[in-house]
Amino acid sequence: MGSLMSIGEFSAGSGLSPSRLRKYASAGVLVPAAVDSASGYRYYSGEQLVQAKLVEALRAAGVPLAAIPPLLMAGSAQDLDRWARDLEVDALRRREALTRARELLDNTIASSGPLHLPPESRTTMTKLMPVSRSETGPVREQNQDDVTASERLVAVADGMGGGAGGCIASSLALSVLDAAFIGSLAEMEAGVRAANRAINERANSTETLEGMGTTLCAVGVTSGGELVITSVGDSRVYLLRHGELRQLTQDHSVTAEMVRKGELTADEAADHPHRHVLTRVLGPGPVVEVDSSMHLPHEGDRLMLCTDGLFNELSDHDLQSLLQEPDAAVAVDRLVDQALAAGGKDNVTVAVVDVSL
Ligand code: MN
Repeated sequence: MGSLMSIGEFSAGSGLSPSRLRKYASAGVLVPAAVDSASGYRYYSGEQLVQAKLVEALRAAGVPLAAIPPLLMAGSAQDLDRWARDLEVDALRRREALTRARELLDNTIASSGPLHLPPESRTTMTKLMPVSRSETGPVREQNQDDVTASERLVAVADGMGGGAGGCIASSLALSVLDAAFIGSLAEMEAGVRAANRAINERANSTETLEGMGTTLCAVGVTSGGELVITSVGDSRVYLLRHGELRQLTQDHSVTAEMVRKGELTADEAADHPHRHVLTRVLGPGPVVEVDSSMHLPHEGDRLMLCTDGLFNELSDHDLQSLLQEPDAAVAVDRLVDQALAAGGKDNVTVAVVDVSL
């Protein structure tokens, strides 16, 4: 057996604390090689110093204590290969979990997996505080934009179509959504689909309304106090957080899709001949694809919903700096006035929404 070492000597030699050695011994790992039957003192052998290094290496590799004794008894490099595979699987799981955590921190929870709070812990303190304004502008004959704004739902629609069509489509979309949405993502999506059907059926049954349609973007408060955001078309929802403005919706337009595919730069898109061509709107077909997402509101969050009459006249930089104004009503007036002053070639609609928690 060679030289025997007391627990203190073995601790010094192996670098493992006496308490850790006692823990290992009781787990059947590194059991002292000898015990003095008179004093009960335990002794380790010199050979066990090598085992101690192996145990520490296995522990550092994440091998559970219980799996170590068989490895020490008859361990081979093949057993370690199996551990290596397990570790890879484990690392993969951890990376996936980290990705999920990152998504949650990013406050963007895909519609397939919304954040479910147990009903009893739900607080519905989240409240929207909207200020909105919609203007025809100096060029267009009528205002086909529409906006609805309450503490639980804010939505903007940009209607299109001849005669009364555009106005009817946008106002119909907002009333159907307002009736459908009480407080869940499913209701929001169902409301947008119902609005699409209502517009489509009305257009098909009334000759003068043929071809009418509308964009729609909306923010609603769920019963869990989260924000659900939805859009079809190119009306936008932005989030101003910590002074930074971020667009939360994707434009469903030919140019936006070309930009996403890398076929066009954002600058080229701004004066592309197809910049007004939308790939998705409510009305033309019996079914429509709906984008939606869930967001956790932060203290001080401000949202802006608007039609293209605003962002086609003002740069992102202008939007961000005008939104820094603390008074939402003043911010709305400045945004609309500057879009009109810049040309006002289209109807302009803006809702600035401070989120109260
Ligand atoms: Mn427009």
